[in-house]
Amino acid sequence: MSGKVAAGGVGIVGVIIALLMNFLTGTNDPSSANIDLGSILRGEVTETSSTNRTFTKEEEELAKFSRQILAGTEDVWTAEFKKLGKTYTPPRMVLYTGSVQTGCGNGSASMGPFYCSADQCLYIDLSFFSSMKKQLGADGDFAYAYVIAHEVGHHVEYLLGSLEEAHEKMSRLNEKEANKISVRLELLADFYAGVWGYHDNQMFGSIEDGDLEEAIRCAEVIGDNYLQEKARGKSVPETFTHGTSAQRMKWLKLGLTTGDISLGRTFQVSESEL
Ligand SMILES: [Zn+2]
Repeated sequence: MSGKVAAGGVGIVGVIIALLMNFLTGTNDPSSANIDLGSILRGEVTETSSTNRTFTKEEEELAKFSRQILAGTEDVWTAEFKKLGKTYTPPRMVLYTGSVQTGCGNGSASMGPFYCSADQCLYIDLSFFSSMKKQLGADGDFAYAYVIAHEVGHHVEYLLGSLEEAHEKMSRLNEKEANKISVRLELLADFYAGVWGYHDNQMFGSIEDGDLEEAIRCAEVIGDNYLQEKARGKSVPETFTHGTSAQRMKWLKLGLTTGDISLGRTFQVSESEL
């Protein structure tokens, strides 16, 4: 695969169902881009900027690459759902800069990429990826693909019912217990990202030398312990919402090496097996 990219990805459970990244500081800019979500069709990609500036060349490249990845996930998940006797309906994707209005409230670059099940839409902040690249040092097109595939993984969770079920449970638990459920959801999305990578490679021979290491390195640097230690010099496991570096690498790798959706048992295994 070609394209410029960066690592990033993914955060806390927001209003009902949004999954957001919260490890960067930054204010949530209430100004919002005007996108008429009703006019975006399934599988369709929209670009928008709240600052009314045009995308930079780098952002345009990221946008193009994002479209390719989304199309690839659609092919893979359509086939995988068929095997399960189900129909896959692709999510929509909004590529934005600045801030954006979503079915789960306002989104901004400080949140990172996220999925909102209320409108079944992936929100990808393009400038965020550039800054992630600088901050985390994780780079490479496959790492970027992994981040998008992770968000699509949340959409797969939504379609298969695990997302709603988990959020329903989380709403009845205290924060510490709810975080544990969040970790399982996030690791499942990592696993699904891996399953996508496996099948995308089978279909298109898309994985090149170094890609697996790149994605796994990306999984490592977006682990909660890594990010917290980097930001604060220490980590507090109780506050983990996405899993440790080791856990994220483990589940991504399992998906990438097997492509077997039935092995995504993050809700069945014990905590020590995560
Ligand atoms: Zn996530």
